[in-house]
This record gives sequence, C-alpha cells and structure tokens, in this order.
Amino acid sequence: MSRNTNEKIASKDGKSGYVIDVENITKSFNGKTVVNNVSIQVPKGEIFAFLGPNGSGKTTFLRMLCGLLTPDSGHGTCLGYNILRDRQEIKKHIGYMTQRFSFYEDLTIRENLDFVARLYDVPDRKRKVGESIEKLGMSARRDQLAGTLSGGWKQRLALAAALIHEPKLLLLDEPTAGVDPKARREFWDEIHLLAGEGMTVLVTTHYMDEAERCHRIAYLSFGNLLTHGTVGEVIERAGLATWAVTGPDIAGLIGKLRELPSVEQVAVFGNTLHVSGTEPLSLENDLKPYFTSEYRWERVSSGLEDVFIHLMENSRDNY
Ligand code: ADP
Repeated sequence: MSRNTNEKIASKDGKSGYVIDVENITKSFNGKTVVNNVSIQVPKGEIFAFLGPNGSGKTTFLRMLCGLLTPDSGHGTCLGYNILRDRQEIKKHIGYMTQRFSFYEDLTIRENLDFVARLYDVPDRKRKVGESIEKLGMSARRDQLAGTLSGGWKQRLALAAALIHEPKLLLLDEPTAGVDPKARREFWDEIHLLAGEGMTVLVTTHYMDEAERCHRIAYLSFGNLLTHGTVGEVIERAGLATWAVTGPDIAGLIGKLRELPSVEQVAVFGNTLHVSGTEPLSLENDLKPYFTSEYRWERVSSGLEDVFIHLMENSRDNY
C-alpha cells in the first residue's frame, strides 16, 4: 500500500496543512443533532474511512466536509478553501460517488461520461472521456447501454464519472454496497492506486475488511466521533482483551458468559465466540470455570470488529 501520510498541501489561507481540517462541526435536522461537535484532519493522499451504524451521521458529515451541506456551527477548510464561504470553489475539485449510481440507462458508457464531462466543462472532452474509459478497463464495453451493465460495471462507470474532471478529493458513500466480492476487490485496488498518485479519499463503509485497508478510520455513533486514527491506534486505544472459544453448543454459552462481571461483550463469529472485556486479569479469572476439556479457548488479538461492537454497545448505553 502506498502511503503519503505526512505529505501536506499548502492551504489557501495558510492556516492548515491538511486537505481536510475542520473543527467542532455540528448539524441538526428538525431539532435532532445528527453530527455533534466533530473535528477531524485528513492529510493528502490518505484513504480515510467513516464507519458507524446506519443513521449515525456519516453521510451528513461527509457532505459538510466539502461544502455540499452547511453546518449549523463549526468551521474549517477543505483543499484549503473555507467550507462555509467557498462552497462553489470546493465543488469544482471534488468527485462524489453516492450509494445510488445515477446514469442515463439508455445512454452508453461513453455517452454517459461525455454528458458528465460536459456538465463539468472538461477541456478536451473527447480525449478525456476516451482516456477515462481506458483507465478503468471499460474499452470493450464503451458502447454498451448503462442500463444493461452488471452492478460491478455500473460501479466502475460511477467511479469514472466521479473522476472525469480530475478532482483532488474523492468522496465515496458506501461505494461497494451490492457489488460482488471480485468487483469490490478490484474497486479497492483502483482506489489505492489513485491514493498512491496523491488523491485524498473519504469513504463510508460497513465492511471491516475495507476499513482495515484504509490509512485511517473514524467511528461515528449517534453523531458523535467515538474514535479515530490508524487501525492499530483504534484497536490499541480500545484496550480490549479478547478470548475465542469453540466447542459443542457454544450458542448455549452466550447467556452464561454475558452474566460474568468482567465480560463486556460476547460476539458470534461463525462457530466461534469472541468474549471481550477491558480488564484482562478479571476476565481470565471469570472465564476459568469454563476452561473445560469440552471447549477450546484461546486468547486472541482483538480485531476491528470486536472494537466496533464494543464501541457500539457502549454508545448505546450512553445515549
Ligand atoms: P449515515 O450516513 O450514518 O447512515 P446520515 O448522515 O445519512 O447517516 O443520517 C443521519 C441522520 O440524519 C438520520 O437520522 C437521517 O434520517 C437524518 N437526516 C439526514 N439528512 C437529513 C435531511 N436532509 N433532513 C432531515 N433529516 C436528515
């Protein structure tokens, strides 16, 4: 994976060296706070993933970061432009791929891209459309109607459309929902290539494997930023000790383990249970009576999924 973690861009107002640098962003809809006082910085060339349950404010936050939506309070810069004042300028430099790809189904791949290029007033349009078709491996299908494409190809077309005006920042809102695993993998390979070329990418996703491949992740719950950092930092900060157990009727164990004072969560992973808590010694002591020959217990490293389940359960208790 190519990383430009510390490379920074010069900001227009000179105050910030990050592609995104926002502070205390808040937004409410109909009296309900959807994004609550969130601050974040994103360096150039990073892939930054936003995770969290449905309705936790990821899309709203993403849209405020780049001037597509105005926050109620807070301030900051995107690509060096003020997110409150320079919204029109920011829009010129971002590519936005939403969950619902919207194309003209009765136009071909080439015609759809040509249409988007016209909207953005892309110079040397014909050449640019040709290049973009080639870059994303769509040459053989250039004259195929968009409506007849599979999910994976539609996603590819959506990405090409989001990139046609050569944005500096790419926003991907659940870009791989509903596409098959092979297309998903190829899509991510492409995103990593783009980041390697200096593109900054903000993405919302529900997939842990995708999050694990991002340079940084942020977890939102009920509009609050619960944690952010590299995957390693987020896991370490959670301070979670985890045991894995397999054996007969492990489903029957779940209830009993949840009763133990030091057990903060029991999560099912296929036919394995992950039992986690933040006090490793108490956890081991509480679990000892269950260390029988019937079951196979193993202390494992906590994964991102364990940490997110933990964060989600705690935030549920707190709000
Ligand atoms: P996520 O992307 O994490 O699923 P969203 O940012 O889409 O979350 O939504 C967060 C909350 O804000 C949801 O409860 C949603 O219904 C609400 N919401 C989003 N946009 C609007 C809007 N334009 N008007 C009213 N409520 C909205």
